Amino acid sequence: MSYVDEVFELVVAKNPAQPEFHQAVKEVLESLRVVIEANEEAYRKDALLERICTPERQILFRVPWVDDKGQVQVNNGFRVQFNSAIGPYKGGLRLHPSVNLGIIKFLGFEQIFKNSLTGLPIGGGKGGSDFDPKGKSDREVMAFCQSFINELYRHIGADTDVPAGDIGTGAREIGYMYGQYKRLTGLYEGVLTGKGLTYGGSLARTEATGYGLLYLTEEMLKCNGKDIAGKTVVISGSGNVAIYAAQKAQQLGAKVVTVSDSTGWVYDAEGIDIALLKEVKEVKRARLTEYAAARPSAEYHDGKGVWTVKCDIALPCATQNELNLEDAKALVANGCFAVAEGANMPTTLDATEYLQKNGVLFCPGKAANAGGVATSALEMSQNSERLSWTFEEVDSKLKGIMVNIFHNLDDAAKKYGMEGNYVAGANIAGFLKVAEAMTAQGIV
Ligand code: NDP
Repeated sequence: MSYVDEVFELVVAKNPAQPEFHQAVKEVLESLRVVIEANEEAYRKDALLERICTPERQILFRVPWVDDKGQVQVNNGFRVQFNSAIGPYKGGLRLHPSVNLGIIKFLGFEQIFKNSLTGLPIGGGKGGSDFDPKGKSDREVMAFCQSFINELYRHIGADTDVPAGDIGTGAREIGYMYGQYKRLTGLYEGVLTGKGLTYGGSLARTEATGYGLLYLTEEMLKCNGKDIAGKTVVISGSGNVAIYAAQKAQQLGAKVVTVSDSTGWVYDAEGIDIALLKEVKEVKRARLTEYAAARPSAEYHDGKGVWTVKCDIALPCATQNELNLEDAKALVANGCFAVAEGANMPTTLDATEYLQKNGVLFCPGKAANAGGVATSALEMSQNSERLSWTFEEVDSKLKGIMVNIFHNLDDAAKKYGMEGNYVAGANIAGFLKVAEAMTAQGIV
C-alpha cells in the first residue's frame, strides 16, 4: 500500500467518529500524492505524514458559567495546537453548538496549510466551544468568555499561540476574552487578534477575509481571461465573511443577489443592500426576514437554496459541507464558471470534483479565505512594534498577499503537471514549506 493510503487509514483508525477531520485529511493527502511519491522513502522514514496529521497538543477543558437566571451552565472548551513548525499557533475560536473535537481538528489541520500559504511566520491551531452566543445577553456572553479564558490563558501568548475570531466569535467576544487575559496575566500583548481599534486591533481586520476572498477571485479570473465587473454573484452566509465579500464584490462592479443564514436565504434582484444587511446582522443581530421586510426587491425563502440561483460566480461563506454534489450540478447547469470558498471546507469532496471536471475555476478555502489570518498576522506585527498602520496600508498588504497566494498555488499546480487544479496547488505549496521546516527541526 502506498504511504499516503497507509497514513489515511491510520488517521481514520486513530481518530474515530471525526468525519470532518477525515475529509480534510483525505483532500490534502490525495493532492499531495505526487509530491510524497517522489520522496516517499525519506518522508516515510521520518513519519512526516503521521506527524503532520497529529496535533502537537490538544487541550480539552470545562467551561462553567452562570446564566441570567442564576443557573450554572457547562460547556466544552477546545484548543488544538496542531503545528508550530513555521511560527506560533494561529487560528480562530469557533463558538457554535455543533463544535466538537473533530470539527476543531479539521479546522486546525486546514489552518496549517493556509497559514503557510500566506508566506507569514504562523503555525496552525484552532479552538472553540459548543457554547451558542445566539440569544444570550451580553452579560452571559461575558461570563462565558471570562470562564473560557480562565483556563485557556495558561496555554496561549503572543509568541506561543494567538487565537482569533471565527463563527460566533466577533469583536464583542474577543474584547471580553482579551480583558480577562490581561487581568489574569497583567500582560498587554498581542495574544488575540480581531481586537477593537482602541486596544490594539488592526484597521481592515474586520473586512479582511471577505475582501481577501475577492482579491484572490479577481486575480484567478484575470489569469483565466475573465473579469469580475458586471458578473452576477451568489453568496451564502451573512456573517463577517459574507458581508465583506459582498461589499468588495459590489465595489469591483459585480452584482451580489443572495445571502443566507442558518434558517433561510434572501434573493435580491436589485443586488444586496450592504448598509441594510449590516444594520440587520451586525447591529440588531436579527434574522434575514428583517432584511426582506425592509427591502421591496428582496424575496425571503426558508431553508437552503442559494446554489439554485443563476449566477456567474459562487462564493460559499457560511460553514463546512454547505455545497454538495446536487448544488454543484445546479451551479454548472446554470452557467456558473467560478467558485471560491470564503468558508472553511464548504464544498464536499464529490462536489469539488464535479465542479473541477466541468471546467469551473475552483479555489479552496485554505487559499481563498487566507486574508483573515494574514491580516491577523499583520495585527500581531503592529502589536509587536506598538504602532498602528492606516487602513490603506493594511488593505494594500492584504491585496499583495492574496495575489501572491494565487500565483503560488497556480505555479505549484503547473510544476506538478496539474495546471488549473488550484486545490492541488494550494495543498502542495502549503505543505512543502511546512515539511521543509519540520525536517530541518528534527524529530519533534
Ligand atoms: P459568522 O458567525 O460571522 O457568520 C456565519 C454565517 O454562516 C452566519 O450567517 C450563519 O448563520 C451561517 N451559518 C453558520 N453555521 C451554519 C450552519 N450550520 N448552516 C447554515 N448556515 C450557517 O462567521 P464567519 O463569517 O466569521 O465565518 C464563516 C465561515 O468562514 C466559517 O467557515 C469560518 O471558519 C470561515 N472563516 C472565517 C474567517 C474570519 O476571519 N471570520 C477567516 C477564515 C475563514 P446564523 O447567523 O443563522 O448562524
